[in-house]
Amino acid sequence: MLSAARSPLLRRTFTTNHVDGFTGAVGNTPLIYLKGLSEKTGAHIYGKAEFQNPGGSVKDRAALGVILDAEKRGLLKPGGTVVEGTAGNTGIGLAHVCRARGYRCVIFMPNTQSQEKIDLLRMLGADVYPVPAVAYENPANYNHQARDFAKDIPNAIWTDQFDNTANANAHYESTGPEIWEQTKGQVDGFICATGTGGTLAGVGKFLHEKSQAKTQIWLADPPGSVLTSYVASGGKLVERSGSSITEGIGQGRITNNLGTFINQLSGAFTIDDTKSIEMVYHLLDTEGLYLGASSALNVVAAAELAVKLGKGSRVVTILCDGAYRYQSRLFSKQWLKAKRLEDAIPPHLKKYAVL
Ligand code: PMP
Repeated sequence: MLSAARSPLLRRTFTTNHVDGFTGAVGNTPLIYLKGLSEKTGAHIYGKAEFQNPGGSVKDRAALGVILDAEKRGLLKPGGTVVEGTAGNTGIGLAHVCRARGYRCVIFMPNTQSQEKIDLLRMLGADVYPVPAVAYENPANYNHQARDFAKDIPNAIWTDQFDNTANANAHYESTGPEIWEQTKGQVDGFICATGTGGTLAGVGKFLHEKSQAKTQIWLADPPGSVLTSYVASGGKLVERSGSSITEGIGQGRITNNLGTFINQLSGAFTIDDTKSIEMVYHLLDTEGLYLGASSALNVVAAAELAVKLGKGSRVVTILCDGAYRYQSRLFSKQWLKAKRLEDAIPPHLKKYAVL
């Protein structure tokens, strides 16, 4: 029999024997070496396993960050209410943190979102208001409704994930340092997609500072987002058009969380949905990783960046969440057909589309 200390199942080292509740379990995620893609590109590609956060996504860090910041600044007091406009993961993260810290949670979301997400938020104790899905410019947009709702009730805050920089700061203070430590400072490139921009700017800023800007920071964009063209044109913002199957990413404006950090980027890629969906299936088949489409897009982009940076380069990206929240879409033959993505799945991977 193997002794426990030598068991391959006992690999991680812990500084303490326990963490303090839900909030203590946020962060400290493993960095996964993606062997197949690393071999294929001759580089070293790593994915930060953010799907292992206790609420299931990278947004647990932002949710905790904005609430701790509001508490510290005296804006949120015991028994208070947290209000947010969100299509998914931020709301789920906030609902968990609110339960764990005794706050009421109110979520405004576009009524185009899946019933699973609404059900989950309600199971987590949140009050959910699905509202018509209208553009940001329209005062009835879910974000503006959340802001206005919070104004009208005492001891309530609107966490404002897009423009509240406590979001990016959570990544500057946790995700960035973890990646630096896990790679022992050997990181040539970091790339990920953005929704609020919190992950990209927070991690990017930290890695830039630590490496004296030797680590290149790149943006990965889904179709329908304006950020790639903004970076490529040196700052021209075009009108948003088009769409993507990826959820939670893509942006039509420069949020406060992205801020001026967008000017520090080395470049940006747009990744087609055909490549992202193929990667969802490929990661499952070759690495046993069951991930959502934004994670898959990030991995496609990381492989492209690794090729750009050359053999032996070390590239890190974010594995944002698991496929569980999207499985009725991503693994449904009917949905793939409706999205004209059937042909994006190679024949040997089609067996995974079981719904
Ligand atoms: N992937 C998923 C699945 C998300 O929900 C989000 C956040 N909306 C992101 C990526 C992007 O993270 P950020 O808001 O930090 O840019």
